[in-house]
Amino acid sequence: MTARRPNCRRLKSAELTDPQQLRNYQPAPNSHQGRVVIVTGAGDGIGQAVALALARQGATVGLLGRTLRKLERSYDQIVKTGGPKPALLPFNLETAGAAEYDSLHDALDREFGRVDGLAHIAGILGALSPIDHYDVPTWCKVLHVNLTAAFLLTRTLLPLLRRSGDASIVFTSSGVARRGRAYWGAYSVSKFGTEGLMQVLAHESEGTGIRANSLNPGPVRTAMRLQAFPAEDRNRLVEPAAVTAPYLFLLGPEGRGINGMTFDCQPPPPAAQA
Ligand code: NDP
Repeated sequence: MTARRPNCRRLKSAELTDPQQLRNYQPAPNSHQGRVVIVTGAGDGIGQAVALALARQGATVGLLGRTLRKLERSYDQIVKTGGPKPALLPFNLETAGAAEYDSLHDALDREFGRVDGLAHIAGILGALSPIDHYDVPTWCKVLHVNLTAAFLLTRTLLPLLRRSGDASIVFTSSGVARRGRAYWGAYSVSKFGTEGLMQVLAHESEGTGIRANSLNPGPVRTAMRLQAFPAEDRNRLVEPAAVTAPYLFLLGPEGRGINGMTFDCQPPPPAAQA
């Protein structure tokens, strides 16, 4: 297996990067060995697939998510396939307060002393609704889980990321982060905010050994996608495992030097892959 460096370029206005290079990235064996990477939403969907893929590449993964039972399933799969022993980090991004963030920092400091990667993948859809009917508590919850919690977690872990020397933060974006779409309400706005958070952080991090980028995985067969498009033909969607390559690239040593960029990496639907 050979490692290939994708041909990435900075987005200009509404222009998107050619997704193919990132999608087809194949890391060298053990490309992430020795790295400690925290993955949010690691119990389900894209987060779980990225956590398993990172462990296969030798990373020690911090499995952060809301439901312990799901995190334990990810843990068991990693151990069963011979990956480095992961850390179970049950954490509710909706309700966590300062004490929980401090405890998380202290636990990771004690266990690892540093963090080399942070993949923000957890998220919620909220409601699909026109703005004039959008439920206010749902709006606040979506903005909090998708955006404010990502800010809080990043802020909490920055001291540990600074100790890495080559730390990568990846935010998960969306097609509705770049152009608002009717009825996508708080979800769309939270993803616009995610892009803004990434850009501010990336600018502040220039020359510090920390990089920040964002990535839109495109349509993927998960619980969230089913909630958004209940009548869709699910056979036309790829599995979460099909979208892990861009995360591996950005979180690993080969992504070094890439900072402040946003990538659009949706795979072709399965029918078009044959
Ligand atoms: P899923 O619904 O399958 O998974 C969402 C994950 O987020 C779950 O692991 C869930 O944990 C976790 N989560 C939700 N709320 C909280 C919380 N309060 N605290 C901690 N963890 C929480 O979604 P996807 O895998 O589809 O989505 C992953 C990311 O990809 C999201 O950011 C989404 O916006 C983005 N995305 C997805 C696309 C798609 O087509 N699927 C397209 C574009 C972007 P639990 O299961 O325990 O509730």
